[in-house]
Amino acid sequence: MPETQHLHITNATVLDVAEGSASGGQSILVEDGVITWVGPTADVPTDRPTGETIDAGGRFVMPGLIDGHVHVTAATADLGAMAEWSPTYVAAHTARNMKAMLHRGFTTVRDVAGADFGVAMAVEEGLFEGPRVVFGGKALSQSGGHGDMRAMGSSTLDPHQCCPSIGIVCDGVDAVRKAARDQLRTGAHHIKIMLSGGVASPTDRVDSTQFSESEILAVVEEAEASNRYVCGHAYTARAVNRGLRLGVRSIEHGNLIDDESVGLFVEKGAYLVPTLITYERLKADGEAAGLPAASREKVDTVLHAGLEALDRANKGGVKIVFGTDLLGAMQIHQSQEFRIRAQVQTAQEVLRSATLTAAELIGLEGKLGVVAPGAFADLLIVNRNPLDDVTVLADPDATISAVIKGGQLVGT
Ligand code: ZN
Ligand code: ZN
Repeated sequence: MPETQHLHITNATVLDVAEGSASGGQSILVEDGVITWVGPTADVPTDRPTGETIDAGGRFVMPGLIDGHVHVTAATADLGAMAEWSPTYVAAHTARNMKAMLHRGFTTVRDVAGADFGVAMAVEEGLFEGPRVVFGGKALSQSGGHGDMRAMGSSTLDPHQCCPSIGIVCDGVDAVRKAARDQLRTGAHHIKIMLSGGVASPTDRVDSTQFSESEILAVVEEAEASNRYVCGHAYTARAVNRGLRLGVRSIEHGNLIDDESVGLFVEKGAYLVPTLITYERLKADGEAAGLPAASREKVDTVLHAGLEALDRANKGGVKIVFGTDLLGAMQIHQSQEFRIRAQVQTAQEVLRSATLTAAELIGLEGKLGVVAPGAFADLLIVNRNPLDDVTVLADPDATISAVIKGGQLVGT
């Protein structure tokens, strides 16, 4: 039997994101990576072994951050080219990307195309230093859809599961059903589908709708059969509303939603995962990061509408999750999403989206996103209170003094 690991964090000001409050003079006891006790340092039970102690020195202790929309394998913004790279080379990039994310305070990420069971296992076994990875395998796309990276002049496609493409092309109910089952077979936590055109794909229009209703229903049925859910990439209200009506549980991006979308989100209990930083960066350095010209031209369509969509959804009571969607070298700007969202949401609302609501979306409510007994000890020690000003998290080097994942202090 391996020895039980104990950790005791003393003298902490613990943030309660749900309440929007902070209490000083607290201690947190951790046993085998799980929080067992939180309370005043003076009241720490004396009958428990405390093990290693970290003195927070009065600083704030908050739950580790969750990024609800990442692509950890996206070593370049040219995803079409990456599909032909060596998978081991892509894995090396993935390891580096994930380590950097963890050091920015993201202790869990939801990967919505690219990461597979191998990436998640590598983290779990400590081979890669990185956040917990909630993965969906490859995204499902129709021919000519957002996950189809072929140029117009190409008709061939290498469908091998081990090619580092982030998508799988499938057409017709049977093929779509099989593709969904293939992702579920490898342990996918969700199925990602492309409901509309996008920026990084070479041949589709942003305002298109993708997949037929019967194809979407088939994926939703397969996901629900496995107690999983479908997340859908969509920009326009037309594509978003269609997906929500057909049972898609989370909408990725949603930059061009309307009031009807807001009503549908609330009625269905669905989630919106905006990814605003990615458009800012695609505009600024998409070219240098490898984004082809055809893709760069599409950025303008969605750039300006995104913040307005977030505001509309927030005011309408939609469940909102933090996401970033950065590709390649642009991933270093991940934390800037906090700065952008603070323009239309309160600090507490932004924090909720990166903790409580994200945990709810991935089915780990009570385990992630809270500092409470029974939760994983994924914690950040921060110098300033992000409930007062959430933009402090946009500068993780200055703000975060320690990252703890599963009760283990992450090395600097
Ligand atoms: Zn997308
Ligand atoms: Zn994405």
